[in-house]
Amino acid sequence: MSEIKTRFAPSPTGRMHVGNLRTALYSYLVAKHAGGKFMLRIEDTDQERYVEGAVDIINRTLADTGLVYDEGPDKDGGCGPYVQSERVKAGIYMKYAKELIDKGEAYYCFCTKERLESLKQNINGKDIVMYDKHCLHLSREEIEANLAAGMPYVIRQNVPNEGTTRFTDEIYGEIEVPNSELDDMILIKSDGYPTYNFANVVDDHLMGITHVVRGNEYLSSSPKYNRLYQAFGWDIPTYIHCPLITDEEHHKLSKRSGHSSFEDLLDQGFVSKAIVNYVALLGWSPEEDREIYSLEELVKVFDYHRINKSPAVFDLQKLKWMNGQYLAAMDPDIFYQMAEPWLKQYVTGNYDLHKIAKMVQTRIEIFPDMEAETDFFDHLPAFDESLYTNKKWKVTPEKAWNVLTEILPRFSAVSDADFCNDELYTVIKDYAAEKNVKAGFVIWPVRIAVSGKQITPGGATELMEVLGKNESLSRISEAIKNLTAIVK
Ligand code: GLU
Repeated sequence: MSEIKTRFAPSPTGRMHVGNLRTALYSYLVAKHAGGKFMLRIEDTDQERYVEGAVDIINRTLADTGLVYDEGPDKDGGCGPYVQSERVKAGIYMKYAKELIDKGEAYYCFCTKERLESLKQNINGKDIVMYDKHCLHLSREEIEANLAAGMPYVIRQNVPNEGTTRFTDEIYGEIEVPNSELDDMILIKSDGYPTYNFANVVDDHLMGITHVVRGNEYLSSSPKYNRLYQAFGWDIPTYIHCPLITDEEHHKLSKRSGHSSFEDLLDQGFVSKAIVNYVALLGWSPEEDREIYSLEELVKVFDYHRINKSPAVFDLQKLKWMNGQYLAAMDPDIFYQMAEPWLKQYVTGNYDLHKIAKMVQTRIEIFPDMEAETDFFDHLPAFDESLYTNKKWKVTPEKAWNVLTEILPRFSAVSDADFCNDELYTVIKDYAAEKNVKAGFVIWPVRIAVSGKQITPGGATELMEVLGKNESLSRISEAIKNLTAIVK
């Protein structure tokens, strides 16, 4: 068999939808698993949906996720141009459309909007135009005269009314459709641009695509594409249609969910490696009972036969969990680099953000979780006496007052230069030994005094190291003052 070649063929219409990212990923994996080639083609023939800057988003997303293409607009592999609007200018689609006209497989259609409107039928609540082949019956002279008069036209595919068209999809199996259900779809629009329906066939053939991986919204049109391949006498590619992605309410994942694009997810504090890993599992399952896979590992194990037919549900909680796994396993320097812009929003005091990042790295799922973990650095929460009661350590507000009052001078005696976790912890241990109490009994009130919280990232003395001597002592003094008011 010849080398496998797949393509990702996005339309530059805005952010990268999770479904498109999955198509790109599966396309990449199908090719790379078989040692084949992965190509990028920009499908910008729908001028109305074109969004400025969207091509940059596509490029950035592919670079960010590691889906490196072997051929594309900036990497010529001999099948260019790789941008459809440039292919229009080169006359490629018109040439093939005319070839179909010559073969009787396509025809000029001069029908006006009004006439097409009048053909509208309401089928299952939807307005559908099934073209009635009116222009198929124009004589050669009429056609020539219309063209010569500069009348606007489209070129339509000529699908016979009788018979059926079959097609095979690797995921959905054998599909047979009566031709009467297949509309004479437009191949070339009145602006001279091809429709997706035509361009995908011409380009996939000319660019040597062996496996077409795309969303299942194209499944129902695929019989029409097959007819085009057959009309040209071209090999039909292997089709791999991927299942729908829904939100938790089982609706198609859309902008409304707030997390339907790759960029949304980055904005919300997810990292691209976790997104890629999660997206791989949206409709595909590995053989092993395992969920964490790097892109390289996916390349090794990805077998497209294991793609599912049934819709995949996008579970944000699951993605959060996965993201947490990635953050926790990250090299601390890389974690810091990524966390810093977020952390700077949450901690504005003059504290060592490296140390704070280290404390929170394994405690968060997404970067914004750092806000709640670190809020006490900038703002000590209001005094709450109830926090000082702890059954396990047998702490009461009275005992807390006592511990803090006795230990404050000992902390105070530690020099600025030595005011670090180890040194402070030794102070606590020595004090506990001297008083014959457990270290936890001492640590409990100290943590609450310096953070106003029972649970914090890092130990009490780690927090003190970050807060520094002045701030730590002032927070402990403040706690003593507040406790005095209650216990005395
Ligand atoms: N341009 C189409 C889209 O973005 C591509 C579909 C395909 O992969 O063929 O939906």
